[in-house]
Amino acid sequence: MPSKLHIDEIIRILRETFDETRLPLVSRSQWDIIPKTPFTVLVSCLLSLRTKDEITEEVSIRLLKEHHTPEQILELSDQQIQEIIYPVGFYKTKAKRIRDIAKTIIETYHGSVPEDFDTLLSLKGVGRKTANIVMVYGFNKKEFLPIDTHCHRIPNRLGWITTKTPEQTEEHLRKIIPKKYWADFNHLFVIFGQTICTPISPHCSTCPIHKYCKQKQVTQHR
Ligand code: SF4
Repeated sequence: MPSKLHIDEIIRILRETFDETRLPLVSRSQWDIIPKTPFTVLVSCLLSLRTKDEITEEVSIRLLKEHHTPEQILELSDQQIQEIIYPVGFYKTKAKRIRDIAKTIIETYHGSVPEDFDTLLSLKGVGRKTANIVMVYGFNKKEFLPIDTHCHRIPNRLGWITTKTPEQTEEHLRKIIPKKYWADFNHLFVIFGQTICTPISPHCSTCPIHKYCKQKQVTQHR
């Protein structure tokens, strides 16, 4: 494991910096209101794609509070789902996807979300990020590494990796991040990316891991 990357120190600092109340969607308090199951995690993740966290959380509660099983989702028409989930991005496409997935789960998988990464990937609209999130947060599997835009951007800024796509990032990070950190990696880097290491104009001067970052000079002088 390359020690000069300071992965242990960085994870420790991020854990100390971000407490439970500031975790992103999949770990947040919406799960006090709606049951946290592989299906609700899957639907919530589909809703979150290209949508702000606050909106995703609000809409997830609105949809899943009363309709948290595939059967209950199928009681709604595409039009009704669209009305409930508006204004999430691509709400028309997402409404159809959510309904189609609920139908497939009932007809093909006896009403349960398949507990298998490749099978999840075969569901229309489910990509690697969503499948990884369902495995980690829906099934509590520790051996998966969900990579979203923050998890892709920040390790590249830190100098851990040099990759062009989230898929490449996942492949490389699986080799360099110790497995004991995989379960925490996604939510820590998402909240860090939303609050400090933001996509545009990151807050390098107040960054708690500034001294370990390869790109801090460049970004500070922009
Ligand atoms: S120093 Fe700046 S670019 Fe580096 S991790 Fe911190 S906020 Fe991100």
